[in-house]
Amino acid sequence: TDYLQHVLEAPETAQEKALRPLSFADFNGQGKTIERLEVMVGAARSRGEALNHILLHGPPGLGKTTLALILGSEMGAQVRQTSGPVVEKPGDLAGLLTGMDEGDILFIDEIHRIPKTVEEYLYSAMEDFRIDIMIDQGPNARSVRLNIPRFTLVGATTRTGLLTAPLRSRFTLQTRLSYYPIATMEKIVRRTCKLLGVEADADGIAEVARRARGTPRIANNLVNFVRDYAQQRSDGKITRPVAEAALELLEIDTHGLDEMDKRILRLMAENYKGGPVGLGTIAVAVGEEEHTLEEVHEPYLIQEGYLARTPQGRVLTPKAWQIIGLDHLRDKSS
Ligand code: ATP
Repeated sequence: TDYLQHVLEAPETAQEKALRPLSFADFNGQGKTIERLEVMVGAARSRGEALNHILLHGPPGLGKTTLALILGSEMGAQVRQTSGPVVEKPGDLAGLLTGMDEGDILFIDEIHRIPKTVEEYLYSAMEDFRIDIMIDQGPNARSVRLNIPRFTLVGATTRTGLLTAPLRSRFTLQTRLSYYPIATMEKIVRRTCKLLGVEADADGIAEVARRARGTPRIANNLVNFVRDYAQQRSDGKITRPVAEAALELLEIDTHGLDEMDKRILRLMAENYKGGPVGLGTIAVAVGEEEHTLEEVHEPYLIQEGYLARTPQGRVLTPKAWQIIGLDHLRDKSS
């Protein structure tokens, strides 16, 4: 399957866990978001209250889970982790919440995938710290009120647009994580090399950072592969030539685009004259799931200026035509 999808959706390994920054000070980049969170944490701590509810959104692998865990350690609170689709019934939610202590954090990843029937219970939990659960059925049916400790909900989603308005409005802060700029990616790659005890020079670090599509999770994965490559094909040190050769073997080009990205661009150029073309059509033609295109590939292609979204569908930009070497086919009249 798709390399990026594999890296971004694979369950966390012990090694990844070891690479997680544990405090605001250890977390690189996302300045605005960090400052907002620091303000909220500082205020909540000085009032001795639970943190207000927070929604983190943005593409996968940028550090949403990491931030939820950092919020826990900065608040001195426990973090309970779950994911939208896992909370199937109102009872599951009640179970999670009643087991918590005052001030603890419930982290719900992929919160846009929480079932509608559960979402309604979340409203009163977030607002009034209680859940009214129906027990029994038919004539014996009655509602039981559960009071729950004042907790903090930290929700994560790849796209806020998928959240219902009533749920969204219950978060005090909604903050977006964006792809990391190169300079920050270099710091992250340097940090990962250091933690893994891998020797790397500045050029080697820069090369890995440049090709990690602004995503720390991908950077960590690439460091791992490049390290193996350096050990097997060189003297163990990550240099520019070593990084280049290793990443070429992974079919990740100098712009950080992978095979699937390029297949998307080529398909749009060759079969649809650069668009506009609908995402569903592209997904079928390249044999990839629509949601992967929308959450993994498209945001990066748009941010880097290869794709644009129009009401009629996706269109290629001149930069995209150039990079896939098909500029001569482009209809420049339109
Ligand atoms: P998903 O939404 O897919 O769960 P995510 O946005 O929650 O992804 P994380 O799992 O938090 O991403 O981060 C992925 C990895 O990237 C972490 O293991 C961590 O080591 C690293 N990482 C994330 N952000 C940073 C950062 N700012 N500095 C250093 N490392 C980072």
